[in-house]
Amino acid sequence: MNDSFEKLKEIFGHFPGIGPRQAERFAYFLLGRDNGYIEELKALLSTLKKDVIQCSECMRYFAKKNNIALCSICSDPNRNTEVLMLVAKDNDLITVEKSGAFSGRYFVLGGLIPILEKVVEKRIRLFQLKNLIERNIQIKEVILALSATHEGENTGDIVEKAIKEINSTIKVSRLGRGLSTGLEIEYSDSDTIKEALNNKK
Ligand SMILES: [Zn+2]
Repeated sequence: MNDSFEKLKEIFGHFPGIGPRQAERFAYFLLGRDNGYIEELKALLSTLKKDVIQCSECMRYFAKKNNIALCSICSDPNRNTEVLMLVAKDNDLITVEKSGAFSGRYFVLGGLIPILEKVVEKRIRLFQLKNLIERNIQIKEVILALSATHEGENTGDIVEKAIKEINSTIKVSRLGRGLSTGLEIEYSDSDTIKEALNNKK
């Protein structure tokens, strides 16, 4: 196969949760599409970064409107600014938001930290988080809504330590510890999220 096919396979292989076999399937799938499909995909890819920007507070991505740097949640005056929920990725935020069970604000870490990782800043937005905590002195509680895995626990420990170093009076609680089964935020239904929020420890 030619270079562009191989290169595309490599790029798909970097997508979250995609292995080399699936990456190859994606590349073959595109080969089988007509030119119109490819053109539409090209156009979408080239405008993606222009139409979507990152919120300067919570770091989530949102559709750009009138050059406002804050997303609809961070700019909503009715949200509780004393409670901050930390999630690993944008999808987790969307799931919690859909449940309607949380009225505070969020921060998207951008990933989780594997147990042996030494350079944690490479994995999560720790610098931006510390900055946010320092700027928002009204924050009284931080809820860690991370998956109930070793990576989730490890990330929680590191983040909790960093928060306490800035302000030891902030209460740090964890979602899902009260649940019998492991929690994957993104795939949880609204009732599970509500229960997890009621059982945070
Ligand atoms: Zn935001």
